[in-house]
Amino acid sequence: MTLTDPAIAPAAPTTPDSAPTDPGHSRARTITRLPSSGLTDRRGRGLRDLRISITDRCNFRCVYCMPKSVFGRDYAFLDRDELLSFEEITRIARAAAAHGVEKLRLTGGEPLLRRGIEELIAQLAELRTPDGRPLEIALTTNGAALAVKAQSLRDAGLSRVTVSLDSLDDARFQAMNDVKFPVGRVLDGIDAAHAAGLGPIKLNMVVKRGMNDDEILPMARHFKGTPYTLRFIEYMDVGNSNGWSLDEVVPSSEIVERIGRELPLEPAAPTAPGETAARWRYADGEGEIGVISSVTNAFCGTCNRARLSTEGKLFTCLFATDGHDLRALLRGGASDDELSQALGAIWGTRDDRYSEVRSSLTPELRASRQRVEMSYIGG
Ligand code: SAM
Ligand code: SF4
Ligand code: SF4
Repeated sequence: MTLTDPAIAPAAPTTPDSAPTDPGHSRARTITRLPSSGLTDRRGRGLRDLRISITDRCNFRCVYCMPKSVFGRDYAFLDRDELLSFEEITRIARAAAAHGVEKLRLTGGEPLLRRGIEELIAQLAELRTPDGRPLEIALTTNGAALAVKAQSLRDAGLSRVTVSLDSLDDARFQAMNDVKFPVGRVLDGIDAAHAAGLGPIKLNMVVKRGMNDDEILPMARHFKGTPYTLRFIEYMDVGNSNGWSLDEVVPSSEIVERIGRELPLEPAAPTAPGETAARWRYADGEGEIGVISSVTNAFCGTCNRARLSTEGKLFTCLFATDGHDLRALLRGGASDDELSQALGAIWGTRDDRYSEVRSSLTPELRASRQRVEMSYIGG
């Protein structure tokens, strides 16, 4: 979508003190809170969660996300000037907060590769909801740099981290990240994050049949009774490079059944509206697990998430084929009012529910849909 799209064509400012247009330093942009709107999309869903991809680069080459055959030495990652600046990200997050966003999640690529990330977090930590509450700022990471960075991230204002961990077996872990990164360093990073107060920490395990599904139970046993909540994610058909097939998906029901046979589980109520993970707690009181059933049990009906790509495109669905170019709007001199109106127009016309209709698409139709890569849009 471009600036010519009616959904984001700039409109006239509606208030006399709408922001001046010099990038980054205007008075209006230093205001941490804008008036609220009761925004909903065409299916009545509010906007609560903004996931922000801050780099398309990664130091891992997870076989299901950035396979080396596609993301090799010649792969053209974005140039620095194509990335949104910290000021641009903060401006968009402030406008989103005025429309109801309460939670920001920094992701990527690998977000800890973005130089100066602490400065961005500090800027985001200044933002407030319309009723004056700070936003929750979370981060999803592969954990490789956490042991070094956990304390500085916390000091900057990060609320908590989610760490991806697909295996405890070192040889398997190294094969899956495909850069020979040892699992022990990620486990050290998780402990460092806990010690720095970046909890409650969630650990995400993508389960792919034949790749790591034999580790479902060992992972559950390992983290039962620890401060960490393990979540199992169904392998998804994001992007076009991972060669996804339905046979490789291990349904959440099977995961719960496999664990529950050895370690009895009982269902637990959701803690927040629009929560992606279904919660199951251990019957003996030793913590809980989560299952994210993006394939077998779609949760589009409560989906309140938007995603901002590294170069400033706003996607209203993980499986969207294109995004709305907010960077063009910002760099074209749009005021804060115009940005806010554009956001409102984009969300107001949203009708996405890909996971609900996935099974009605033929494999050919699914394959012909040019989706954006997970490493570009963020998970
Ligand atoms: N690099 C960071 C990390 O790995 O945590 C953040 C970005 S990564 C794209 C975000 C999440 O997406 C990770 O938990 C990753 O496991 C998950 N992911 C990537 N490809 C996936 C796929 N095909 N199906 C399900 N989850 C996937
Ligand atoms: Fe990198 Fe995360 Fe994708 Fe793995 S899942 S390749 S760590 S972006
Ligand atoms: Fe939300 Fe799209 Fe996922 Fe449905 S498929 S839950 S609309 S991101």
